[in-house]
Amino acid sequence: MSAAVGIGLLAVALALLPAIADRLALRFGASPVAVLAVALLALLGLAAIPVALALWLASGARAGAVPESVALLVLALVCGRAVARATAARRRLRQIGLAASALARVRGDGVGVLPCAEPLAFTVANRTFVSEGLLAALGGDQEEAVLFHERAHLRARHGRLAAFAATLRAGLFGLPPARRAADLLQAELEVHADRVAARELGDGQPVAQALERLGDDEEVRRRLLRLGQRGGLVGRTVVVALLVALGGGLVATVCLSGGQRLAIVGAIACLVGVFAFAWFLVPLLQEERR
Ligand SMILES: [Zn+2]
Repeated sequence: MSAAVGIGLLAVALALLPAIADRLALRFGASPVAVLAVALLALLGLAAIPVALALWLASGARAGAVPESVALLVLALVCGRAVARATAARRRLRQIGLAASALARVRGDGVGVLPCAEPLAFTVANRTFVSEGLLAALGGDQEEAVLFHERAHLRARHGRLAAFAATLRAGLFGLPPARRAADLLQAELEVHADRVAARELGDGQPVAQALERLGDDEEVRRRLLRLGQRGGLVGRTVVVALLVALGGGLVATVCLSGGQRLAIVGAIACLVGVFAFAWFLVPLLQEERR
């Protein structure tokens, strides 16, 4: 099997992975961390594919078929777009944080209350903000559920994982498979925060009631369904096996598709992948074990 076929098959597997994980999670229940790991692997793998293809075209079996400068241009385009997106997102977040801080009245518990009728709750620059509209819509238990949810985002550092996913998605020009993986990742970050809030309250009811009061769209319905699930057949063992198989497949494909340079790139990709998983997912696991 040629390297191109290997890379192509891997791309198809990675593109299908988020949709399959989403369906299995909704049907059988699964740990949000496990689903997040699958979504992250899909994004990392999809991001590695243009790199593998560019290097293979430039220096692999088809040496000379494509000038190296073309491959480098593709890489520069992907990386440039990702960096530009990350910089813009960071700037926007800082502006939102500054604007919210300027408008909000800070309560005794450190929460900023925004004078706004729309029900809002978000955490930016290490501070949680809620709107007057949200406080008016929720009872005491439900307000507490929202605050526990926001604190879970903060403690488990969900923001940096979401930003990383958005950067990869932008680097891949928002292609449908990358969009699907990033959307699943975002949805499961909410599920993770909901479940942590439910555990800390010792009861899932206030979280569910707060969700029901704040919306009735598809995202809310998904979160309510995932909140009601416990454990499930798609356990972490299955997911770990899947991650090892696909991660190994990815690295092997990259390494076997060309010469020494690709082997070095494969080793670097492997290290980056392991580091990314540890950096992003360990805080989530710690949050679950608290
Ligand atoms: Zn949230």
